[in-house]
Amino acid sequence: MSDHRNSSVDHLQVIGFGAAALGIPIAADRQGRLTDLLGRGCVFFDSRRPREWTSLGYDILSNSAGADFLVGIDPAGAFAEALDTPQARSLLAAGTRPVPLPTASVFLHDLAGRVAEHLAGLGDEVRFGSRVDHIVVEPGGVFRSHDAQGRTLARSRHAVLAVGAAPRPAGAGWLTSEAFLRGHCLTHAKTAVAEGHRIRIVGGSHSAFSVAGMVLREWGDELTTGQVWIDARRPVRLYGANLKDRHSPADVVDPDTGEVNRFCGLRGPARDLYQAVVRGDERRVLLTEGGGEPRPAVRPELTVSAQGYRARPVPVRTEQGEVLVGPTDPAVDRDGRLLDARTGNPVPGLFALGLGYRHIAPDGTAGYPRAALNIFHGDAADRILATL
Ligand SMILES: Cc1cc2nc3c(=O)[nH]c(=O)nc-3n(C[C@H](O)[C@H](O)[C@H](O)COP(=O)(O)OP(=O)(O)OC[C@H]3O[C@@H](n4cnc5c(N)ncnc54)[C@H](O)[C@@H]3O)c2cc1C
Repeated sequence: MSDHRNSSVDHLQVIGFGAAALGIPIAADRQGRLTDLLGRGCVFFDSRRPREWTSLGYDILSNSAGADFLVGIDPAGAFAEALDTPQARSLLAAGTRPVPLPTASVFLHDLAGRVAEHLAGLGDEVRFGSRVDHIVVEPGGVFRSHDAQGRTLARSRHAVLAVGAAPRPAGAGWLTSEAFLRGHCLTHAKTAVAEGHRIRIVGGSHSAFSVAGMVLREWGDELTTGQVWIDARRPVRLYGANLKDRHSPADVVDPDTGEVNRFCGLRGPARDLYQAVVRGDERRVLLTEGGGEPRPAVRPELTVSAQGYRARPVPVRTEQGEVLVGPTDPAVDRDGRLLDARTGNPVPGLFALGLGYRHIAPDGTAGYPRAALNIFHGDAADRILATL
């Protein structure tokens, strides 16, 4: 297969086969274009093996509605059977309520298996255990992916980076909310609580409050007043806090329709915890916002960084070695087109989908506003497919 891939040019290669990448086949199916798309030659790469699926494997409740995980799938399409499983039924039954993320993760893992099988049936493939190290853009605009040894993995006219994101760099010796919420730090945290150390959580996002919620859930009886410290460097935002102000861009996406920005601010259990702390009902948690308040006296502590994520790097360069997409903070426009680091213009044929990409609005402002599966499988994938 690799000889064939070296010489021929596929229509599309997708780097990463995690939760977001599934949006490409799912949206193509919804649009009735799946067979046509796959017939033109598509290949997916993922550095993991199928049994190593970890997407959304966090031991907390979702910040999105349970049914949001299903909305992209055409109930009469190629992946309809994924809707007829116990995990899909429990997501559906949750409706607008949050769900345990492990349930969403099991659903997505099953869905990924079905998508991979469907691709294989049409002669395309997911190459598991295959990590793309970098991409070279040939003079004719063909994308050539390479592994770490420099071997060519595939050549294609279009490429989508869907490699997910890694936590932003943390201080030396700090844990990350990523590892914490996946349950990888339980022994460490249990010992810290038992020894009376302060658990300091840096950040004021859904992840920060979810870490605090997990500490309360696991060791709440042992905690003393203020033993958990949420060190939010900026004021904490609540979901829909300024809804009455229809022109607040943080909360209202479209002032004409009143469409709410679903990706800004705390909701669900994270919001409940914030409000309990502010009211003074949850005294085991100390909250400082914006860095202005008096900080607790120093004593030995365990620090958890919950400062967000940024896209995993897959450098993209020209044959001459000019960097089109660098290792830090790549940006996309609203159509998911990756922006050339040198010019800020879209790189023709190159897209990104999933967590961690900076999103540049037409007025040039940047943010990370669209990090949810219903968007990745919905509008974001539709916009990419419109160009493929
Ligand atoms: C704590 C937390 C909670 C969240 N809760 C929700 C929620 O409730 N609802 C919601 O809709 N979204 C939620 N999200 C946001 C987002 O939907 C998920 O993070 C989602 O898993 C992102 O999917 P992804 O495909 O971008 O990344 P991933 O699921 O991480 O997939 C990336 C894939 O790329 C592969 N890969 C990486 N590098 C390479 C490479 N170089 N070559 C080949 N393969 C590679 C990886 O092996 C992986 O399989 C949450 C995110 C976090 C961090």
